[in-house]
Amino acid sequence: MSNERLTIAVQKSGRLSKESMKLLEACGVKFNIHEARLMAHSTSHPVDLLRVRDDDIPGLVMDGVVDLGLIGENVLEEERLERVIKQQPSGFSSLRRLDFGFCRLSVAVPKEEKYEGLQSLAGKKIATTYPRLLESYLEKQGIKARTVMLTGSVEVAPRAGLADAICDLVSTGATLEANGLVEEEVIFRSQVQLIQREEALSTEKQELVNKLLARLDGVQLAKESKYIMLHAPKDKLKEVEAILPGAERPTILPLSHSDTQVAVHVVSTENLFWETMEQLKALGCSSILVMPIEKMMG
Ligand code: ATP
Ligand code: MG
Repeated sequence: MSNERLTIAVQKSGRLSKESMKLLEACGVKFNIHEARLMAHSTSHPVDLLRVRDDDIPGLVMDGVVDLGLIGENVLEEERLERVIKQQPSGFSSLRRLDFGFCRLSVAVPKEEKYEGLQSLAGKKIATTYPRLLESYLEKQGIKARTVMLTGSVEVAPRAGLADAICDLVSTGATLEANGLVEEEVIFRSQVQLIQREEALSTEKQELVNKLLARLDGVQLAKESKYIMLHAPKDKLKEVEAILPGAERPTILPLSHSDTQVAVHVVSTENLFWETMEQLKALGCSSILVMPIEKMMG
């Protein structure tokens, strides 16, 4: 793969694809995606995307085939455990945990089965796509069970007589319920991580990564922050500042038609709740506006 361009592996099509692209876009990295193509070249930066199945992403980073990857921790940890067992390269560095792709890996059993804690799983057959994560969890808990590897439709395994229980990803639980299963144990909680290969990058590439990380942090911070504007009575400024959440150094501006009121502008690192707005109102504040921020740089 080209040495001068930073390569990033992302899921081609699936639950992580849209958010992964949105994230890169928010950092100013633009792409023209041709749906059918494996590679996409950025039109704004020396960055190439490798669009693959999510299962392949951890291995591509651990083997140093790509520089960065965006991947769910469930797939990442499963691959790491598998490679440790096989004594294959399993190193990488975690750059950031991102706020998407949330799910949990849970053990579920048919609703007619009595479940009395993990001990109920002893000697049972459990179908899963994540045998290494499951085995490592059971081992830590001192439970001996058999795992049956299935790559899809895990939730039908008990009804098909393939297993006594399953261990699968859950986000709302609707799929489990539809298949007559009850979620009993959460064994792993997952979200998306941005990871980097272990072997050092060239100085130019590392500088680009650092720049993208700073932008990423700016996007993240902006998401959590609000711009608040309001009119406040001059003699209540201390009280107003005290109840505005996370507001450092507000900007105070005169109002053209009032000697008693001023405009207060603050960037708050927290959301402004209705309760706080009501308190501000009670202090005599008016025209209270809470606005989203798109980007931030300190
Ligand atoms: P691919 O074809 O790329 O292998 P896939 O079918 O394995 O796709 P998706 O269903 O697109 O994978 O899910 C990708 C990742 O999204 C999961 O590994 C997990 O990290 C995350 N995820 C979030 N919520 C869920 C959910 N409810 N069910 C499954 N995965 C979820
Ligand atoms: Mg997959």
